[in-house]
Amino acid sequence: MADLPPSSLRLLLDEGAIAANWRTLSGLSGGAVAGAAVKANAYGLGVEFAVPALREAGCADFYVAHWGEAAKVAPLVKPTELSVLHGPLTDEHVAFAIATGVRPVINSLQQAKRWLDGGGGICDLMIDTGINRLGVAMADISEPVLQELQIETLMSHLSSADEDSAANAAQLGLFRQASAQFSPRRRSLANSAGIALGADYAFDITRPGLSLYGGVPRPELAEAIRQVAFPQAAIMQLRKLAAGDRVGYNGEYTARRDMLAGIVSLGYADGFLRSWGARGALSSNGRMLPLLGKVSMDMVVVDLGGAPDLKEGDWLDVPYHLPDAARTSGLSQYELLTTLGKRYDRQSKPA
Ligand SMILES: *Cc1c(COP(=O)(O)O)cnc(C)c1O
Repeated sequence: MADLPPSSLRLLLDEGAIAANWRTLSGLSGGAVAGAAVKANAYGLGVEFAVPALREAGCADFYVAHWGEAAKVAPLVKPTELSVLHGPLTDEHVAFAIATGVRPVINSLQQAKRWLDGGGGICDLMIDTGINRLGVAMADISEPVLQELQIETLMSHLSSADEDSAANAAQLGLFRQASAQFSPRRRSLANSAGIALGADYAFDITRPGLSLYGGVPRPELAEAIRQVAFPQAAIMQLRKLAAGDRVGYNGEYTARRDMLAGIVSLGYADGFLRSWGARGALSSNGRMLPLLGKVSMDMVVVDLGGAPDLKEGDWLDVPYHLPDAARTSGLSQYELLTTLGKRYDRQSKPA
């Protein structure tokens, strides 16, 4: 088949920024070193981009959620550098872990038993200190089966580190209590936001995800974290609107005067959901181009009044400074990243 022609969507990725974010987060992690959560295809940015850039920066611990994700990341790292957060849900997962050397995170007594029965070996252990998601319950931490595990990293996950919540100190206390029951090689509690809670939360290794990719879950990180992903979409067609013309699905926008509009290749499947709504805008060299009407499947329409020089094929910037984009769109910073979709050509951002 012929080479694939370029997409009308591209995601410019800043290798320098992701490396700098990792170094910053590692530096803020007290005496600990930072690992990296690279699940969900590195939060939508692409493991082929993120993992080599993070390893180059010095990161040597990677976390994915699913075993299918482990298969994609394993060729990019040493097996001992990779953990699977969802743990062994089946015997096939145990066999895969043993064959590849990838570490499961054990999340329950059943998973512990399954791992040991299947031949086991070094693993991580997740304790639930209050998020009530995955992890061994505090009531079960003295169960003998857990004492048989060879634990590399003992971990827990904070539910509310992005808030000044009493839950943070409570979880820290329970994690210390759980830590006393085991002799892991390392202990780990903090995600991105948890790193900003201070050195008490850092233990031996921190597990940032969001902030590696430009997310700012707490104001303390605002100055330190750099934007990594810069989506751009091409103008596919110019259209002259006459006063009274209506635009897009349900004709929600009505032109009040004759105006120039651009039809842009950007839609739901690209993470650009309707919630961007009437407040959203794209931009060109800093000039704001307001959205007209609804995001309509694979397209948006923008007002080119502020940039009449633009032509078909020109690239527009999608505003993706994550804290600002979250405010405008009503989506969380996690959602903004992980819904970016597969239609972008992911490429290095020119310096
Ligand atoms: C996703 C995840 C992280 C990373 O969290 P962020 O809030 O994105 O920094 C860390 N640890 C676990 C167990 C996770 O599931």
